[in-house]
Amino acid sequence: MRDITDRVINSADTNCYDGRVRWSPAKSLWFSAMAIGWIIGGSLFFSWTAVAVFFLLCAIILCGGHSLGMHRKLIHDSFDCPKWLERLGVYLGTLVGLGGPFTMMRTHDMRDWAQRQTECHDFFSHGASVLKDFWWQVHCKLHLENSPDFAFPPKLTEDPFMIWLQRTAMLQQIPLAIALYLWGGWGFVFWGICGRVTASIFGHWLVGYFAHNDGHQDWIVDGAAVQGHNVRWCGLITFGECWHNNHHAFPESAKLGVYKGQSDPGWWVLQSLEAIGLVSNLKRPHDLSQRAELRRV
Ligand SMILES: [Zn+2]
Ligand SMILES: [Zn+2]
Repeated sequence: MRDITDRVINSADTNCYDGRVRWSPAKSLWFSAMAIGWIIGGSLFFSWTAVAVFFLLCAIILCGGHSLGMHRKLIHDSFDCPKWLERLGVYLGTLVGLGGPFTMMRTHDMRDWAQRQTECHDFFSHGASVLKDFWWQVHCKLHLENSPDFAFPPKLTEDPFMIWLQRTAMLQQIPLAIALYLWGGWGFVFWGICGRVTASIFGHWLVGYFAHNDGHQDWIVDGAAVQGHNVRWCGLITFGECWHNNHHAFPESAKLGVYKGQSDPGWWVLQSLEAIGLVSNLKRPHDLSQRAELRRV
């Protein structure tokens, strides 16, 4: 496999711009229920310990799950690690509340592929106004008229654990919710589940919006409809995912904060895991093959 866009299978009439954005009841009601739960339950059962649990779980699940397990490992294979560690990372990534491993890979690769074409739908480029884009990304889905096919890799299709995670993605909040209830009561549940899922989905959209519209660029991918931007103010809270111009330039790099001053907590965790022998072969930009279409700004 040359890179992840090989998982998207085109035919002659496939395109990424003819399509309609439609309300997705499952996505929309999931986010709304979590948000309402957080606002009402989080106020009624407010405590500073519950807020601390919210931040602690956000850090573990967004860094270990979303950034490292799902994105840098499952999707981009940017480092090597034992199977159990990849499964743990993808389990944590499912707890984010955006979807199971198949959903996350498909959503990521479809957008990545569309952004590399010469034109694509505003849905893929975050090209609509900020309010419309929020409605689209958090409450709707894009239905392409001539969608490409999608080939999932054997590490997903042949792993019963990954298939089970995908089928039970939303239900995965329940065991954690029970543990939180037993540990600290309803406050921990409303902040540790509803608050965390709401903030994660909202933050994921907001950073995605800025990362495709506004911010510093060191690299341009020639011929691509959409360029990535580095969103300077959120290196720490996105665990390095905000250095999105670097990611468009070097998608298979395990290190996202490549230049001076670009804090990348996900990379720091990987370096610590490398020091104790749990991960290896961490790819950095200079380890990747040169791309003819990449141009320094
Ligand atoms: Zn992007
Ligand atoms: Zn990516």
